[in-house]
Amino acid sequence: MNCPRCHAELTVEDYRGIEIDRCPGCGGMWLDYGELDQLEDTVFDKDELKGSLMFRSFEGELVCPKCGGRMQLFNYRAYNLELDFCEQQHGVWLDAGEEKRVMELMKQRIKDIDRKGKAEEEWGNFLAKLGSPSFMDKVKGLFRK
Ligand SMILES: [Zn+2]
Ligand SMILES: [Zn+2]
Repeated sequence: MNCPRCHAELTVEDYRGIEIDRCPGCGGMWLDYGELDQLEDTVFDKDELKGSLMFRSFEGELVCPKCGGRMQLFNYRAYNLELDFCEQQHGVWLDAGEEKRVMELMKQRIKDIDRKGKAEEEWGNFLAKLGSPSFMDKVKGLFRK
């Protein structure tokens, strides 16, 4: 396979236990379908708490190294990071350094969830004093996103 960014030949490499294809030219990496999830799992493996993977996809400029189809860009988990993916579910392209961004954002996610959990707990204690279980459920619903 060739790099969709600079067209150098990709070389197979082990990255944190995942077999990825790295570009020796620009430093980007190709993740097969499912390997993005594996990469996230090296930091945070609670899939049900990760949120939606893709927000707002739109036409990109790269071509999939597997099928030659035009790739799409998507907003990664509503964070300020855009990644390229093949609609045929061949995989995801990460430019140099974006794999670190993914892992940072997963760490951020853990912190956010932790904070949210504490907020829910405090609300719970507060509302328990008020003794209003139905209101409590509504408030909990607000936090469940
Ligand atoms: Zn390249
Ligand atoms: Zn493809």
